[in-house]
Amino acid sequence: ETVEKYKAISPAEFFYKYKEIAGFANPARALYQTVRELVENALDATDSHGILPDIKVVIQRADPVQEFYRVTVEDNGIGIPPDIVPNAFGRVLFSSKYVLRQTRGMYGLGVKMAVLYGQMTTGRPIEVITSKREYRRIYFFKIRIDINKNEPVVLERGSWRKQRDWHGTIVSLTIEGDWGKAKARIKEYINRTATVTPYANIVMYTPDNEVTLYKRVIETMPRPPKEVKPHPYGVDLEMLKMIIESGKEPTILEVLVENFQSVGEVTAKDLLSKAGIDPSSNPRNLKEDDLLRLINTMKSYNQFKPPSSSAISPLGVEVIKAGLTRMFEPEFVDAVTRKPSTYEGHPFIVEAGIAYGGKVPLSEADKPILLRYANKIPLLYDEGSDVITSVVKEDIAWDNYMVAFPAQLVLLVHVCSTKVPFKGVGKESIADVPEVRREIKLAISEVARRLRGYLTAKQKELETQRKVVH
Ligand code: ADP
Ligand code: MG
Repeated sequence: ETVEKYKAISPAEFFYKYKEIAGFANPARALYQTVRELVENALDATDSHGILPDIKVVIQRADPVQEFYRVTVEDNGIGIPPDIVPNAFGRVLFSSKYVLRQTRGMYGLGVKMAVLYGQMTTGRPIEVITSKREYRRIYFFKIRIDINKNEPVVLERGSWRKQRDWHGTIVSLTIEGDWGKAKARIKEYINRTATVTPYANIVMYTPDNEVTLYKRVIETMPRPPKEVKPHPYGVDLEMLKMIIESGKEPTILEVLVENFQSVGEVTAKDLLSKAGIDPSSNPRNLKEDDLLRLINTMKSYNQFKPPSSSAISPLGVEVIKAGLTRMFEPEFVDAVTRKPSTYEGHPFIVEAGIAYGGKVPLSEADKPILLRYANKIPLLYDEGSDVITSVVKEDIAWDNYMVAFPAQLVLLVHVCSTKVPFKGVGKESIADVPEVRREIKLAISEVARRLRGYLTAKQKELETQRKVVH
């Protein structure tokens, strides 16, 4: 018999070993993913806080011989407090986004994966320059990750006085990449990001000395998401225990009222009486059985309002139309934002936009050019396994909408939620959840009907013109 060797590893070591699951499989993918993680953090730090984004992306060759690239992303966002910076960039699973509020990031992993990949391939640390609006100084850091301990190691730090009114963050990383192979994807990613952020200035400098500028065309931004309390339908035993332990409420009644959405005093009393618990009990003295009864009562209670949608931030009709128009100069454009809906206690909204004719390129033979988005992130890989693709191909009878493929037709679909049901941490495709599927279908049908309306009117017009001529 051989001897088993037991040991525990840190989160940093886990993701260092299994970098593929976070999208860092090879130098080409890693370069694409690094740009993506930095740009998404930059956008989260701006539009989610009501700041019109100015984003600059620079990709440079960093070595005359080896395929090393330096990726720098600058934003005009909220900045990061200097005491937080080391953990934000040097501790895997550290985040400000573990709250109920729609953001592009959600796992507390992205930028640390890029740091780990940089350490593995070039050995160079991440460099961060940041300042908040109200600060007098700008802070500078060089950081690496201690993989065994999952802790930041600050190699250098400094600060200087602000000479002008700047706030935001500049992040630079040097990794092994493959620009030749990653080029098309990275450009597509930036282009697709710009399609849904017509309110942003985005500029990219490439190693081929190309400069691409997407200039802001509207000042309207999606309403920033607000953090919300959890809805009682989503509660479980561990969550309730954590809420009780981390809070100071003297009674179980107050625990319920303070920590959950749509639970006021009347509802809380009703729930507790149904669960057979005295409202004035000290929550820390309740037995596990009591808590379980309470949870079951909450789950089967049918008088709660549905989960609040103020934590989600749809693009909105105006932004989608402006974005599609800026990109495609179409003959016809329209968009819809569906009303909020829920799955498993999570609120979500589906939006769809359509652009037809004009400079829209010709589609494939069986479906429109499909632009998939989740929480404002473009999804570029794994199209075949995504629920949006499946709805577009299987649930929509395009000939009912006077569309025959190939057609000059772009269809944009956006799913946003406090929890998008992604199939993996690489965030490339959405799982087939029945409630989400249904809303996707309804959103697409609605914009497709508007396209049909336009095409019908156009046809009639042509017919009258013909009659006039004859
Ligand atoms: P996530 O984006 O999933 O939270 P990351 O590892 O990408 O995880 O980032 C960790 C945290 O660092 C973020 O939650 C955010 O608080 C902070 N952060 C990263 N980049 C920026 C930035 N450009 N501006 C402001 N904060 C940032
Ligand atoms: Mg991130």
